[in-house]
Amino acid sequence: MIFKELGVIDPILKALEEEGYTTPTPIQQQTIPHLLQKKDVLGCAQTGTGKTAAFAIPILQLLHENRNSYAGKRQIKSLIVTPTRELAIQIADSFDAYGRHTSIRNTVIFGGVSQHSQTNAIKNGVDVLVATPGRLLDLIAQGFVSLAHVELFVLDEADRMLDMGFIHDVKKLLQLLPKQRQSLFFSATMPPQILTLAGSILTDPVKVEVAPVSSTADTIQQSVYFVDKADKPKLLVDILENKEIETVLVFTRTKHGADRVCKTLSKKGIKAEAIHGNKAQNARQRALTNFKNKEIRVLVATDIAARGIDVDELQYVINYELPNIPETYVHRIGRTGRAGNNGTAFSFCDQEEKAYLKDIQKLINKQLPVEEGHPYAMDPSMPMPKANTPKKAEQHKAGFAEKKSNPNKKRFFRPKGAGAKS
Ligand code: AMP
Repeated sequence: MIFKELGVIDPILKALEEEGYTTPTPIQQQTIPHLLQKKDVLGCAQTGTGKTAAFAIPILQLLHENRNSYAGKRQIKSLIVTPTRELAIQIADSFDAYGRHTSIRNTVIFGGVSQHSQTNAIKNGVDVLVATPGRLLDLIAQGFVSLAHVELFVLDEADRMLDMGFIHDVKKLLQLLPKQRQSLFFSATMPPQILTLAGSILTDPVKVEVAPVSSTADTIQQSVYFVDKADKPKLLVDILENKEIETVLVFTRTKHGADRVCKTLSKKGIKAEAIHGNKAQNARQRALTNFKNKEIRVLVATDIAARGIDVDELQYVINYELPNIPETYVHRIGRTGRAGNNGTAFSFCDQEEKAYLKDIQKLINKQLPVEEGHPYAMDPSMPMPKANTPKKAEQHKAGFAEKKSNPNKKRFFRPKGAGAKS
């Protein structure tokens, strides 16, 4: 599935390609066509599923296609209300990114800062306004914002909005919106109070739902290798000695990391290619095709580059470096164990990454079994870093203090999960 098949227009397709998006996420596949048909949508999805693009892309498209029917000064035609400043900024950034080849303008308003630059932006005219509820009501009361021309309304993270005590603000806003409009309602959970609120906003909505990002499929066998950073290349090569491992997607955090892993493997005669944002689109596509055709065994990818990768029967995912965002772990390992096939996900965890592992285990609500007795096992007596997520400076220091590799290493062991059928 590609974005074009969802009916997305060229200027937006171009921006998505520049963002490195190749495949729409499930929420995008389910939502975009309905929104383009001007239907209301009730979406059960959380952050991390790609829900921002699921509404931003069709809103940009509908406004872009109708741009010639709007005369005079730009009016706010789409309003997105979200509970926090961080989310508001992220959403506005997404509109900037996906709409960069359209003429649609947006701005963002939130409380806790001076309103001056926000009101100036609105005075200059915007098509899309992203807002937190309190500041929005405030600027409406002061006469800076009018909702009279809103055609597309999004209530984002509705359950969080309620938890944060914004229900009255939301109800006030609803009174100010034109009755004739298209509405979208997103919430990670749907308790009765939320459903009642949704019922008061939406008209005959299409319901879409995607699995929460915290769930990992039961068909994926997961485990962790504690290993010194310096020993990771050797551990990877050792694991790949097992010829039963035919297709492996290896994740690194950085583009340079991906290139380094690829070089190490190539030196050992293991066919591997890297895909990341520094590679041209056709080079990435070629690597992916070679991987799908099993001409190369190992594809090394960064998270951004790997977003759209969809390889049937992918046997193994190896987290060569753990992600600092726990949801990313779930996305990564979700590449294997699809459609009822078995899959295996190994994670390499060095001293600095123990805090990341802790966050991941908390999110997925399970302890990953530890692969014991491998030749590069890290000294387990090393304490875990105190901070939940190590700061850059701490990581740097930890890197220098890193222990040298375990001298008692044996080669050619077989990992427990190796040989799982795909
Ligand atoms: P969200 O759930 O909207 O917070 O999005 C989560 C992350 O996924 C953001 O960093 C987006 O930039 C990214 N993203 C959204 N859709 C796609 C896609 N189709 N392909 C790749 N990345 C995406």
